[in-house]
Amino acid sequence: MKNQLWLYVLFISISSFAQEYTRADTLRGSITPGRAWWDVTYYDLKVTVNPSEKSISGSNTISYKVLQPQNTMQIDLQAPMKIDSVVQDGQQISFTSEGNAHFLELEKEQKRGDKNKVTIFFSGKPKIAKRPPWDGGFTWTTDSNGVDFIANANQGIGASLWWPLKDHPSEEPDEGMTISITAPKDVMDVSNGRLKEVIENDSTKTWIWKVENPINAYGVNLSLGDYVHWGEKYMGEKGMLDMDYYVLRENEAKGKKQFKQAPLMMEAFEHWFGPYPFYEDGYKLVEAPYLGMEHQSCVTYGNNFENGYLGRDLSGSGWGLKFDFIIIHESGHEWFANNITNKDVADMWIHEGFTCYSENLFLDYFFGKKASSEYVIGLRKNILNDRPIIGPYNVDGRGSSDIYYKGANILHTIRQLINNDERWRQILRGLNKTFYHQTVTTKQIENYISKESGLELEVFWNQYLRTTKIPKVEYAKDGKLLKFRYTDILNNFKMPVIAVVNGKEEWIDPSANWQTKTFATPVESVEIKQDFYVNSEEVPE
Ligand SMILES: [Zn+2]
Repeated sequence: MKNQLWLYVLFISISSFAQEYTRADTLRGSITPGRAWWDVTYYDLKVTVNPSEKSISGSNTISYKVLQPQNTMQIDLQAPMKIDSVVQDGQQISFTSEGNAHFLELEKEQKRGDKNKVTIFFSGKPKIAKRPPWDGGFTWTTDSNGVDFIANANQGIGASLWWPLKDHPSEEPDEGMTISITAPKDVMDVSNGRLKEVIENDSTKTWIWKVENPINAYGVNLSLGDYVHWGEKYMGEKGMLDMDYYVLRENEAKGKKQFKQAPLMMEAFEHWFGPYPFYEDGYKLVEAPYLGMEHQSCVTYGNNFENGYLGRDLSGSGWGLKFDFIIIHESGHEWFANNITNKDVADMWIHEGFTCYSENLFLDYFFGKKASSEYVIGLRKNILNDRPIIGPYNVDGRGSSDIYYKGANILHTIRQLINNDERWRQILRGLNKTFYHQTVTTKQIENYISKESGLELEVFWNQYLRTTKIPKVEYAKDGKLLKFRYTDILNNFKMPVIAVVNGKEEWIDPSANWQTKTFATPVESVEIKQDFYVNSEEVPE
C-alpha cells in the first residue's frame, strides 16, 4: 500500500514536470495586447438561471478606462458558453474567436483616458463540476424537498467558465460590480456584496446584489436555494460589521450551532491580520452543494456542519478537530486572496500559504502557542516537495500543492526567526494595510517581510519558494563540542535555528561549513527545534 502511494506520488511529479503550455494558456494567463490597453472599472452582470435546462443566459456590461488607444479587445468566455452579440453605444460589434478568447473589433475611437462601456450578451450550458471546488463548474442539485440547490465554483478554471470578462487575476473592477440573478420563484440567490433589491417577475424573481469593493473574478458567485437567513452585528475594529448566514431550511438548527464559529473567526483574524477588508460589503457564510470556496464577502460552506475537514484532522495533531476547517480556512482568504490577491496564479502561495497558516493563528488565539505549533508541524507530513511552490508565469501555471502546507511552515519558520510575536503580528497586519485591495507579486510580499523584519531573507525565499530542497542540519557530538553545518542549501543560505542541547534551547547559526559550539558539560542529546522547517541528522563524528 505504501509502495503504491509512493509510485502515485512519483507519477504525479513526473506528469507535472512534463506539462507543456499552449498558446491558449498564454492567452489565458498573460497580459496580452488585447488586454493591456484597457482597465475594468465596473462589471454589471445579469444572469438568468434555467434549472430545468441546466443553462444560463445574460449580459455583462463592462465599464472600462482606455489606457492606450487600441481597438481589439480580448474577452474570455469558455466553451460551451457562447457570446451571442456585443454592443457598444447601440452598435453591434463584430468579433472573432480563438478557443476561449474572443477578440472584439471596436469601431468607436478609443481615446486615452476615455471611459467607455461595452455589453456582451451570452448564453449556454456552463460546464458541470465533476468534483467541486477542485474541478470547477456548476453544481445543479436539489435539497431533500426537491427544491433547486445550485452554485458555481471556479477557482482554478476561472470565472470565464460562466460569464464573459477580462479573466486575468491582475484585473479587478476598481469600483466593484452588480450581480443580478434571475431564478425560479421558490429559491433565493445569495451573491457577493449586499442585497439591494428583489424584483418579482411572472414566474421568477431577480435578486440584485451590489459589491462596493474591487473583487477577484473567481470570487464572484451565485448560490440558489431554499435558504433560511439570520444574522448578527459584530463590533469589529472598523465598527459595526454585518455578518449574515444562509443555510438550507432543513439545516437551520445545525447551521445556527456551527456558524457560531464565524464571529470567533472574525475576532481571531482581526487580531492577527487587521480589520476585515470588506465592511462595506458585509460578511456572509452561505451553504453550498460542495465543500466550500472563498467567494469574496460570500464564503460558501459545505463541510457537513462538523469540525475538521469533512470530520478529519489534516494535521493528525488533534487540534484540527477544534474548529470547522471550512469556516476558518475559507474566511481566512478574505485577507489573503480577496484583500491581497496574486497578479499571476504562479504566486498563488500568497493565497493558500497564508490562509493555511491562518488556521494555526486561529488556534493560537483561542488555544495558545503550543496548539498552533503542533498543528502546523503536524501538517508537514502532507508536503510533497515535488515541484517548487512558485509556478511558471504568464501561462496560467500553478506551483506545487505545497503552496498550502509548505507555505504555512515557511511562515511559521519566519515567526521563529523574528522571535517577537508582536512584531510578527504587526507585519501580518501591515501586509493587509499596505496591499489593501491590491493585486501583488510574490516579490512584493517577500520584500515587505524582509524589510519589516530586518532579516536577510532573499536566499531564504529562493530556497523555500523556488527550489524543492529543504535545508538539512547535520550535527555531531564530540564531548563538550557540538559540530554542525547545513547541506541541501543554495549558495549563501543562512538561517539560525534553535538546537535543544541536553534539554536546553540554544541558538546555533549553521552555514555550509562545519562550525563548533562548546558547552559546559558533555553534549548528550541534541534535537533541532521542530518549529523550524528543516531536516536534521546526526552524522558520525
Ligand atoms: Zn484555500
